[in-house]
Amino acid sequence: MASKDYYGTLGVSRDADDEAMKKAYRKLALKYHPDRNPDDKEAERKFKEASEAYAVLSDQQKRAQYDQFGHVEGMGEGMGGFDFGTFGGFGDIFGDIFSDFFGGTSRAGGRRGVQRGADLQYNMEISFDQAAFGHTTEVDIPMLSTCDQCGGIGAKSSRDVEVCPVCQGTGQQRIQQGFFTVATTCTRCRGSGKFIHSPCPKCHGAGRVREHRKLRVNVPAGVDTGARLKLSGEGEDGVGGGRSGDLYISITVKPHPYFHREGTDLYCEVPISFVDAALGTVILVPTLEGKVELKIPSGTQSGRTFRMRGKGIASLRGSSRGEQFVRVIVEIPTDITGPQRELLQKFASLEAEADRRAHYPLMDKFTQRIRDLFG
Ligand SMILES: [Zn+2]
Ligand SMILES: [Zn+2]
Repeated sequence: MASKDYYGTLGVSRDADDEAMKKAYRKLALKYHPDRNPDDKEAERKFKEASEAYAVLSDQQKRAQYDQFGHVEGMGEGMGGFDFGTFGGFGDIFGDIFSDFFGGTSRAGGRRGVQRGADLQYNMEISFDQAAFGHTTEVDIPMLSTCDQCGGIGAKSSRDVEVCPVCQGTGQQRIQQGFFTVATTCTRCRGSGKFIHSPCPKCHGAGRVREHRKLRVNVPAGVDTGARLKLSGEGEDGVGGGRSGDLYISITVKPHPYFHREGTDLYCEVPISFVDAALGTVILVPTLEGKVELKIPSGTQSGRTFRMRGKGIASLRGSSRGEQFVRVIVEIPTDITGPQRELLQKFASLEAEADRRAHYPLMDKFTQRIRDLFG
């Protein structure tokens, strides 16, 4: 097994102290980190070599072993030998070294200049019927889209793109302040890590343009106010190859002048005359699909609710439908003619005491109660 030159890899002398090694590793790690060098095998190899060297030399015991024998047990035979998972404290080192590298502005949390497109929110108001039966519509949403003239690179041609000379492509400027290193977004390239000689005339170098995008939206039957439809990847386009955001459509359903909705069930009220309530009748009840007959049995009380199966709203899950509940309100005429009055008086005189008690259960119950309470 060939002995590795860990000191040479880090570029430090054999008597370097912890701080010097940390500084050296940090520099190399930032330079060769895979996130910053996508698909660059050479950079990946260098990053792993530096990580392995630092893993050994930052550990007192391993460093002593290495100094004495020129190699360390369990450390890297060949490239695949170094196991990041068993490198104790690796997370700490990364937390320490990379906190200013990954933190902050990039929501993608990865490569500089690569940014996921923003999620967008769109509020849509639809009618009661559109919510009940589903609705297909076209929306016009303002958003940042990849510039079609430059394909998102922001330059006239790919030859016009160079690494930013201020930040060397990292997108960040680091300023030493005492013990701390403060990282800020590069002021020259605004974090993209690129320097563009001739900007694209359409997007002026941004790579994206603000435009209106027409989208067909299928609102499923059964949605209600507060529903949120997610259209994956239909948000703003990303930057530098970052993936697109998502589009969320928030639904508001306009109230219906007649129906009240609760979940998939519909509620409505229908007034009927006291004669119809007493004699029984068939009434026409409005439903979502037009008028439907409903049988009112004789002796129906005011406030009684009838259920019409499957006349409600479609369920978002499955093919079932809710019910329609019809509450009848018995209406007493506000005025009657002379002959009607005579007939009603005759009607009352025909009610025998026994019948009265049997036919008016509420009144009978009330009379009993009062008698029990007050004698
Ligand atoms: Zn820069
Ligand atoms: Zn462009």
